[in-house]
Amino acid sequence: MASNGTSNVSATGFEVTRPGRLAAKTAFITGAAGGIGLETTVLFLREGASVIMSDISRPALDAALAKLSSIVPSHPGQVKIVECDVSKEASVEAAIAAADEWGGVDIVFNNAGIMHALDADAVDTTDKIWDLTHNINVKGVWYGCKHAVLSMRKHGKTKGSVINTASFVALMGAATPQLAYTASKGAVLAMTRELAMVHARENIRFNSLCPGPLNTPLLQDWLGDDLPKRHRREVHFPSGRFGEAVEQAQAVLFLASDESSFVNAADFVVDGGLSKAYVTAEGPAPPAPKNNVV
Ligand code: NAD
Repeated sequence: MASNGTSNVSATGFEVTRPGRLAAKTAFITGAAGGIGLETTVLFLREGASVIMSDISRPALDAALAKLSSIVPSHPGQVKIVECDVSKEASVEAAIAAADEWGGVDIVFNNAGIMHALDADAVDTTDKIWDLTHNINVKGVWYGCKHAVLSMRKHGKTKGSVINTASFVALMGAATPQLAYTASKGAVLAMTRELAMVHARENIRFNSLCPGPLNTPLLQDWLGDDLPKRHRREVHFPSGRFGEAVEQAQAVLFLASDESSFVNAADFVVDGGLSKAYVTAEGPAPPAPKNNVV
């Protein structure tokens, strides 16, 4: 089946084909070399989008592209990699301009973010860590939103979808503080909500993704093999497990597609129920879905 369509065999034995959910759309993704960004790239490609993968790490982008060759074999010509530091506006502008030859962007997923090991509480967080975190997590999202709008206007788009990655920590307090990170994700929620109002009559939707704790390097490297540190968090997980990147990517796919045409300014929470939990159940965790990229 062509890359912009999906084929299945129905119960009656007839082949059912449908256009990809993102057919004819061009997407720009930051932090695309790993975790949520890479799983989202896989789903977007399978659903027919052309994808510009951007990341600060060129070696990681090269490695990600190599993996895609076996996961989505139909991708050549449908994907580009662009090195981009989201904390630098010129870098974001140039990376989004890579979509010009494909007619500009329809979807922008501002997903790159950091959680620094030295991020702490009000007393111990340094200016350096605060500024670094906000430059990437807040300014980076702002620049991505700004150049999404400019690209969509330049190319006369009649609709667009911007998804900004925030976090469940922007909705809940934790006595294990990472103050700069939490504040930065709160800023993403507020900024996204406001942009959704500003651009609603241009038919450009802005939604925030609020992931729960995930099985990606960003959190797992930080938790390491410190079992008490892990247990302090895991006891609050209703399902007893971390989320997988692919579970976020499925939500991003919905928000990117026209299926979510009336979803705007949402704090789209994908956290396995964590932010609604008081006392959690006991017993083994149900199995998690497998990521496409291992
Ligand atoms: P990840 O570390 O696997 O991926 C993040 C990617 O961003 C990396 O490929 C990294 O190279 C890239 N990046 C870092 N700084 C950059 C910069 N200045 N410019 C461009 N790219 C840069 O992490 P992930 O878990 O996939 O996280 C993606 C997003 O999800 C982040 O915004 C993160 O804060 C958010 N999030 C993660 C979790 C979690 O538990 N992992 C929970 C809530 C929210």
